[in-house]
Amino acid sequence: MDLSKHAFFEGKIVPLSDAKINIATHGFLYGTAVFSGMRAYWNEEKKRLFVFRPFDHYHRLLNSARMMSMEVPYDEESLIQLTLDVLKADDWKQDVYLRPTIYKSDMGIGVRLHDLKDEFSLFVMAFEKYVKNDSNAHLTFSSWRRIDDNAIPARGKVAGAYANSALIKTDANRAGFDEAIVLDQNGHVSEGSAMNIFMVRDGVLITPPITDNILEGITRRSIIELARSELGLEVVERSIDRTEVFIAEEMFMTGTAAQVVAVTKIDHRPVGTGSMGPITAKLREVFDNIVHAKNPKYKQWNLEVG
Ligand code: PMP
Repeated sequence: MDLSKHAFFEGKIVPLSDAKINIATHGFLYGTAVFSGMRAYWNEEKKRLFVFRPFDHYHRLLNSARMMSMEVPYDEESLIQLTLDVLKADDWKQDVYLRPTIYKSDMGIGVRLHDLKDEFSLFVMAFEKYVKNDSNAHLTFSSWRRIDDNAIPARGKVAGAYANSALIKTDANRAGFDEAIVLDQNGHVSEGSAMNIFMVRDGVLITPPITDNILEGITRRSIIELARSELGLEVVERSIDRTEVFIAEEMFMTGTAAQVVAVTKIDHRPVGTGSMGPITAKLREVFDNIVHAKNPKYKQWNLEVG
C-alpha cells in the first residue's frame, strides 16, 4: 500500500512513521472513533490535485463526532486548511484517498463516551479501484443485517460499526461475490458494506431514504443531484423491498472509494439485460469528469490543492 510520508497527528504534521497510538487507547479498545473517506483526484491537464467536496465530508465527520460526544478544536474550514497542508507536504501526482479520524484518545479501560479526550488524525494513500469488477459486479444478499440506528448511529461513520461491514464484505467475497446488499431490521434494502444503492425501475432512479439506516453518503447526494440536473431523471427516495431488485432495469452502488459500481447480477440472476445499463454508464461518465475537475459547472465541488 502506497501511504503518505506525512500525517496530521496530535495537533501537527509529522512523518507518518511517528503517528502512533498506544495499545491502551480508548478508540482502539472500543471502536470509539469516527472517520471519513475522501478522495483527491489528479487532473493531468491542469497538473493539479483537487479534493472532492471536502466541506461536506468534514461536515459529516463533525456530525458523526457530535453523535458520539466528541469535541475537537476544529471546524470544517480549519480541517480543510490542515488537509491542504498535509497534501502539500507530499508530492502526489495521482488519485489519492484521505482518511480523517476523530478518536477517543485517553488510555485505559472503561466503556463510555464522557470525560475522555478526543484527537483528530489524517493520513493519505494512493488509491485506484475499490471494487475490482466495477463495471459488472455480482452481488448477493448478505445474511447479516445492517446496524440499526437505535444500536449505533447508522447515518454517521463510527469506526466500531465497521465490524458489521467487515462481516458483510468477507462473507460475500468468500462466497465468490463482489459485494453484498444488506437488509435493515425491517427487511428493506439499506446499502452495501461501504456503498449506497440505487436501482432504476420504469426509468425512475430509486434509492433508500436516509431513515432506512443508511450512511448519509456524499456520493449518493452528488449522484441524486447529477441524475436530476444532467440526465433529467426523476429521483425517488423510498424504501426498497428485497424482490424489487430482481426486476430492476439497472442497479449501481455509490461511494467515495467505490465511486459508481455497475451491478449486473444479483444471486445469479441478471439485472436488466445482464450488462451495464445506459443510465449507469452515463452517470459514471458524468461523475468521473466532475471529480477530476473537468466540468466547470461543478467547480464548487473541487477544491484545488495549490
Ligand atoms: N455506506 C457506508 C457504510 C460507507 O462506509 C460508505 C463509504 N463512506 C458509503 C455508504 C458511501 O458514502 P460516501 O459516498 O460518502 O463515501
